[in-house]
Amino acid sequence: MSAVWSRLGVARIVNAKGPATRLSGPPLHPQVAAAMAEAAQSCVDMLALQARASEIITGHTGAEAALVTSGAAAGLLLGAAACATGLDPAAMARLPEIAPGGRCEVVMVRSQRNQYDHALRTAGLRIVEVGLPDRFAGAGCRDAEPWEIAAAISAQTACVHYVADARARPPLEAVIEVAHRHGVPVLVDAAAQLPPRANLRRFVAAGADLVAFSGGKAIGGPQASGILCGRRDLIAAAALQLLDMDYPDGLFAPPPAFIDAAELPGLPPHGIGRPCKVGKEQIAGLLVALERFAAGDEAAEHATRVALLERLAAGLEGLPADLELRRDLPVPLLALTPHAFDAGVLVRRLAATAPPVHVDPEETDQGRVLLNPMCLLPEDEAILVERLRAALQP
Ligand SMILES: *Cc1c(COP(=O)(O)O)cnc(C)c1O
Repeated sequence: MSAVWSRLGVARIVNAKGPATRLSGPPLHPQVAAAMAEAAQSCVDMLALQARASEIITGHTGAEAALVTSGAAAGLLLGAAACATGLDPAAMARLPEIAPGGRCEVVMVRSQRNQYDHALRTAGLRIVEVGLPDRFAGAGCRDAEPWEIAAAISAQTACVHYVADARARPPLEAVIEVAHRHGVPVLVDAAAQLPPRANLRRFVAAGADLVAFSGGKAIGGPQASGILCGRRDLIAAAALQLLDMDYPDGLFAPPPAFIDAAELPGLPPHGIGRPCKVGKEQIAGLLVALERFAAGDEAAEHATRVALLERLAAGLEGLPADLELRRDLPVPLLALTPHAFDAGVLVRRLAATAPPVHVDPEETDQGRVLLNPMCLLPEDEAILVERLRAALQP
């Protein structure tokens, strides 16, 4: 299974961190890998493939249209570009420059700023921050208010950007209400909001105009895949800025439900999304992964993961560490607090073994290491217990 890595001379890792990009995303189910291998062996018209992908994804999301992207961050770039240009090919051709008086700003709550908003700036937009995150500073209980978002919206606003998370403020519904009242679309980063599977529909149902998901996280698709779904006109604008537009006269004939060519004064050239190219293999793999994710038995999956963590915990008994099994999250986690040394030392010791073992370091500053079951292979269980037992010796 890891023969390709030994041929290349690269270590296969034990991934107890979960589907992080740094650690190559999730291992693919054989059906997903098979679809990718099959897709790789003959050619297809990419516009027709994306149009069909749109139909399949809308069936799972309830959106009007959808696009397979090379990741959620690519979806944010394309979504921001679509909000800035609409279906105007001249505006598309100009990006990342935006003509004076054009929609060059994205309004965003300050406490939601994060590394991925680079994607919005890459599309040419300037981020206008609102709100003062008192709660995070421990200096008060407030965050941004809907009226602050309203006050920041102007004729230059391309969209309001919202990073979905249980702690995100204000609530999405309130942000959508205020943005729509001012005629501005809302672009939601829902990259890591799956599971639960219900979230495939939740943000669209709440009225979000565009929603970006990662394909290479819980959906279990290829690492470099994602979904952008939402309003038909915005998805059409995003698709036009992603696809190879080298069409000879008369050959550009998308299904009108995906891109209505009659709405366009002419074809734009290659767009700002061209460097986020998506391969036919990614699309074929993602669609199989999405079908599997949508049809999966969430409760059974959760129970399987809890059972795996229970076996790990049993294997670690008697060691100088506290164990805490967190069962009630969308994804259960096993938290491990070493007694004798800093959690960061444990993270580094594990990464230095062969095969390297990677854990979730998110809570090392609180003295804990987290074990995430999502990317563990059956053979990893015994390795993980053995390495943890060795690494936890003082
Ligand atoms: C993972 C993540 C992204 C990026 O997703 P990719 O699919 O890797 O591009 C963006 N935003 C958030 C909040 C994420 O967790």
